[in-house]
Amino acid sequence: MQIDIVTIFPDFFRGPLDYGIVRKAREAGLVKVEIRDLREFTRDRHRTVDDRPFGGGEGMVLKPEPLFESVEALQLAPREERAAAKQSVVLLSAQGRRFDQGLAVELAALERLVLICGRYEGVDERVGMHLADREISIGDYVLSGGELGAAVIVDTITRLIPGALGNEASARQESFFARAGNAGGDWSDKGVRPFDKVRAGSTQPDSTCASGGLLDYPHYTRPAEFRGIKVPEVLVSGNHEDIKRWRRKSALEKTLRNRPDLLDQAELSEQDKELLAEIASSSER
Ligand code: SAH
Repeated sequence: MQIDIVTIFPDFFRGPLDYGIVRKAREAGLVKVEIRDLREFTRDRHRTVDDRPFGGGEGMVLKPEPLFESVEALQLAPREERAAAKQSVVLLSAQGRRFDQGLAVELAALERLVLICGRYEGVDERVGMHLADREISIGDYVLSGGELGAAVIVDTITRLIPGALGNEASARQESFFARAGNAGGDWSDKGVRPFDKVRAGSTQPDSTCASGGLLDYPHYTRPAEFRGIKVPEVLVSGNHEDIKRWRRKSALEKTLRNRPDLLDQAELSEQDKELLAEIASSSER
């Protein structure tokens, strides 16, 4: 997969894409990230990328010409054929569709992705209408530029590219996973869905459970007791069925507490409903 980022601050990306999984994926050639300096596509002495807004008002707006030329230089398929060619041009914008794990999965299946970073008051609307295929927002707040958003998108999709994570299964078990186009989770062995077998092929008994669109379950590591705070007993019990049940219940509890909106969308199994009933009755007591 190749990702091109169009920005007026190319140096911004020294750092965010040079660590951990993203760095390894780049070194392994799983993803190629190219930074394009918008100013190289200007033709005037001052390398002007912005201008005042028509109609008046505060601030400056990124001009269309350098943006169109920078994307055209990448020689992508024509706009109407881009989806079929597995290419997409994205404008980072607070007014875009909100980025989530489902959209990340969709983008991770592409072969070429171009991310256009806005600045100032924003970008001439013709860029969103006639150059980009879509506008994406990384959340309901206003950033001062699209660069942080581009880095968020590159990070999120890189870890979804096969081979980028040491253990392929870990992405499946993480928060939000079912929203990425998968069915709901089922922590029991009876109704195991393909992605539930997180360690398929391994000889280890399976005590993990897929998030099924909920938040991830809590993780603990050594020491078993830290400043008098013990890890939950069940995790050191060695009983994999009990561990799986505890993890699913904890994921449900945490989702209920922090993100009840996810529960409305998740496909809950019968076991999940029983666990939710248990959670409700223990909170009443
Ligand atoms: N006037 C605009 C905000 C401009 S902020 C508005 O009110 O919607 C300048 C640039 O930052 C934008 O062009 C966009 O590229 C980027 N940006 C700001 N907030 C963003 C968000 N939530 N997600 C993605 N990009 C964002």
